[in-house]
Amino acid sequence: MNLSYWEIKTWLTNIDYTIIGSGIVGLNCALQLKEKFPKANVLILEKGMLPQGASTKNAGFACFGSLSEIIDDLHHHSKTEVLELIKKRIDGLQLLRETLGDKGLNYQNLGSYELFIESDEELYETCVNKQNEINTLLFPIFNSNVFSFKANDFGFSNIKPNYSFNQFEGQIDTGKMMEALLNKAQKVGVKILNNCNVEQFEEDNNSVKIKTNSLEFSTRNLLIATNGFASKLIEQSVKPARAQVLITKPIKDLHIKGTFHLDKGYYYFRNIDNRILLGGGRNLDFKTEETDVFGETEIIQNKLEELLKTTILPNTKFEIDHSWSGIMGVGNQKKAIVKQLSSHVYCGVRLGGMGVAIGSLIGKELADLIE
Ligand SMILES: Cc1cc2nc3c(=O)[nH]c(=O)nc-3n(C[C@H](O)[C@H](O)[C@H](O)COP(=O)(O)OP(=O)(O)OC[C@H]3O[C@@H](n4cnc5c(N)ncnc54)[C@H](O)[C@@H]3O)c2cc1C
Repeated sequence: MNLSYWEIKTWLTNIDYTIIGSGIVGLNCALQLKEKFPKANVLILEKGMLPQGASTKNAGFACFGSLSEIIDDLHHHSKTEVLELIKKRIDGLQLLRETLGDKGLNYQNLGSYELFIESDEELYETCVNKQNEINTLLFPIFNSNVFSFKANDFGFSNIKPNYSFNQFEGQIDTGKMMEALLNKAQKVGVKILNNCNVEQFEEDNNSVKIKTNSLEFSTRNLLIATNGFASKLIEQSVKPARAQVLITKPIKDLHIKGTFHLDKGYYYFRNIDNRILLGGGRNLDFKTEETDVFGETEIIQNKLEELLKTTILPNTKFEIDHSWSGIMGVGNQKKAIVKQLSSHVYCGVRLGGMGVAIGSLIGKELADLIE
């Protein structure tokens, strides 16, 4: 199909910044570029009908780290590095809340809980013993103790009688966040082309030529925000990691409220609209889940259902309504990759499992690479 003169002139000419990917990072990057350079033409190319990676698929935890995760991170990183990671997540969440407002996100500070499975005495003891040390470490950030232990009031089964509580974590409505971000970007004049899969790009002295499944054009600068799909276009150490989720039908008088981590964070669940949303289980089959192809597998979906029956809702009747998956970008480090790759090409990728928290900030850092 030949494009019309109007289509070429209005959408594909004189583009200052082309961003690949309309996830949290791509959209925040676009907003920041428009703020810095109000007259610039900013275009986003998105392969999906909707954003099609992790940003519309996630669990909506507004979190910065559970007790066991922080203890584990201290085995692999220095105290300063761990504090930096946590600070970044908190700053990112703050920026997200400032950008869209708590109402726009349906942000709720219901706290988060870490549950320890009955047989995991070692992890439980470690967390109990190290709680004070971690609270002391985080005190300069929060001016208060972050973690405490609480009795199992929600009636979960097969777990230790006490769970760890984090008073500073909350939850958002992921759909509302992405809808608000898309609206905001379009309001400030960012153009978004959906169903547009970038297949390759080529840089010359002053511009970058982009080839998609449906069109070719040039842009002055290219910013890549494709997270789990990054290695298809650039050589950076990012691997795709699929994460599967399910949601129950509404449950009458659902008593569970908050966000919950179980078994070292391999599983996570929350309340939403009187339902339970539960995800995780990649550890059952890491190899199969190292893919950028969406899909659900029996082994993981069965385990999620079993956990609902035996641990989360042992005395409540429920039905599964729906399952889905999303694709994350992970690597050997938790730090995202934000850098200039060549004269006119930049990337902000590898957000791991905390992109709701850090996505806004990484989008800003990506835009800030441009002077
Ligand atoms: C099931 C699940 C649960 C999660 N839960 C949480 C949570 O509770 N809290 C939290 O903080 N984080 C969570 N995350 C992680 C978080 O969602 C991600 O880190 C974050 O959304 C990443 O944002 P992004 O913009 O970098 O990537 P994405 O949202 O993946 O955006 C990348 C975009 O690029 C597009 N794209 C890729 N290649 C191309 C191409 N060649 N051409 C055009 N477009 C392309 C994709 O379609 C996609 O829309 C979860 C992730 C998943 C999958």
